[in-house]
Amino acid sequence: MTPEQQREQWLKRMLPALGILVIYFAIISNFVTEKSSKAEAQYIELKQKGVDAAALPGVEQQQRELSEEMTKLEQENKAIHEAFAANSSFLSRTGSPNEAMVRTEGNDVRFGVEYIDHVGFDPVTHLLDIDLIRIDPVCALKIPANIALRQKVLPFIEMDGIVHVVCQDIENHAVITVLERLLKKPIRLWAGAATQLETKLKQVYGTVQALPAPASAQATQTANAVNTGDELLYAAYMRQASDIHIDPGYNGATIRFRVDGQLEHYNQINTNIFTELVSRLKVMAYLDIAEKRSPQDGRFSHQFVSGDRRVDVRVATLPTKYGERITMRLLAVQTDSLTLEHLGFEPTHKRMIEGFLRRIQGLMIMTGPTGSGKTTTLYAAIRMLLEERKVNIITIEDPIEYEINGIAQCEVDSADKVSFAKALRSILRHDPDVVMIGEIRDKETADVAIKAALTGHMVLGTLHTNSAAATVTRLTDMGVEPYLVAAALRLAVAQRLLRRLCVHCRIPRPLTELEAISINRAELAGHTIHDPSGCIYCGGKGYSGRIGLYEILELREDWARAVAEGEGESSLVVKMRDSGIKSLLNDAVDKLLSGVTSITEVVQIASSW
Ligand SMILES: [Zn+2]
Repeated sequence: MTPEQQREQWLKRMLPALGILVIYFAIISNFVTEKSSKAEAQYIELKQKGVDAAALPGVEQQQRELSEEMTKLEQENKAIHEAFAANSSFLSRTGSPNEAMVRTEGNDVRFGVEYIDHVGFDPVTHLLDIDLIRIDPVCALKIPANIALRQKVLPFIEMDGIVHVVCQDIENHAVITVLERLLKKPIRLWAGAATQLETKLKQVYGTVQALPAPASAQATQTANAVNTGDELLYAAYMRQASDIHIDPGYNGATIRFRVDGQLEHYNQINTNIFTELVSRLKVMAYLDIAEKRSPQDGRFSHQFVSGDRRVDVRVATLPTKYGERITMRLLAVQTDSLTLEHLGFEPTHKRMIEGFLRRIQGLMIMTGPTGSGKTTTLYAAIRMLLEERKVNIITIEDPIEYEINGIAQCEVDSADKVSFAKALRSILRHDPDVVMIGEIRDKETADVAIKAALTGHMVLGTLHTNSAAATVTRLTDMGVEPYLVAAALRLAVAQRLLRRLCVHCRIPRPLTELEAISINRAELAGHTIHDPSGCIYCGGKGYSGRIGLYEILELREDWARAVAEGEGESSLVVKMRDSGIKSLLNDAVDKLLSGVTSITEVVQIASSW
């Protein structure tokens, strides 16, 4: 056979096989496309039905793989953590075998006291920002200054029976032993940056070394009334409390401090100490010790052992079922922090107040209930005036709450020798540029204040009203002619204080419909707000410090004309809202939505009128 014939024969034999192959491929490819188009159709169908892509078989498998990987990682993590814990417990095993069993890690809390996890800050790994923690001076002063300074330790707060201490080295077991012996309480160490700690230690201990030894629980039990009284005043002063409440009960008495507007438990004393303490305080305030059945009030000035630290105290007694209840108001506290910025004024509000303070004459009224910080704001304004201008300032107060160098402060006498109106009239003869009146209570005071404001004096005062616009109504209700109010009043400021949420532990969540309705803003339901929780930074309270709410009415010329013509509060409010002045509630809601405060605080504002 020729090669051509051979090739032909081979082709003839192979042709059927090739044909079968082609048909086979055709069937397969058809099958695949059919299947994939089916899957696609299924996917589109699912998507139209609104089913998530996760429901598809491929995605499901991917998710499963991912979660398996996560579990594996978590297990590895746990193993590392356990190894670390085992290692550190080995390091700390220095005491007796029993002790080693109780103390698991050098940094852990001993004596079997359970550690409460305050929102995820782990003392082993978290470096504490010392500038942001709340330092309770009473807690800090439970250890002598020289030990604190030498060992570089600062006990800053006691929570749930555990004293939290910030130091440089949390593995320093000698320090733990010393502190536990001194404090007689389980301690927990936190690490802090060395420079920050150094500065803070100087602040806390640098100035107080000469002061009396602080109260320890044991000492309080056995101390006599003199010591208890001194310690009590000192502790309240150190915590910057505004009031001390001593409530007698069936079994002894409870002592509480008001700090930042909130009552805090300080101590529980037995009946004997309470009886002695009451007598001691009554002697200090020049009250009648024998008289136990009628309310009395008095005052005293208390000098602490070290140099210039002094506190003025107003004392009031009230006979109750189990003895005399005592309330002490602490006055003349430090005025260093009295600035408008510190009080939480926004730049626009601050500009308005500063604008008024640069005028020569006019009346500015601060309004708000007791404890809303209106007097504090007035003092801050006066401090600003003193710094900027050479002015003669005279105040009439009841009582003098802060002492400020460079101004004449006059106190109203409870025996009515010096009433507000009487003092105000005589003050005007002393040629003041600025007069501050603690509170405008009656027509007589209001009349003199307005007359002073119209005759070239700047007059600052406070009133009890709920809003800025209500100032006008209140003054006319007192009997002041509307045209006089219009001519004198230049600025009315309503103020409230809300607690500020701790930024380290606040928890976000959506605002419920019911809550939105309770603050008269139903449309805000679903917006993110924050709840308080509690952590090492806020001392477990969830709040830290306070923030001011302000509503400022600047009486413009046309508005003043309307007031003079007898237009009331409601039309003034409409004018204010039209020109974009926020109400207290609007200001509060803004602060709620920006996470500065909580819904509980805002509801208080919403329900106050
Ligand atoms: Zn916190």
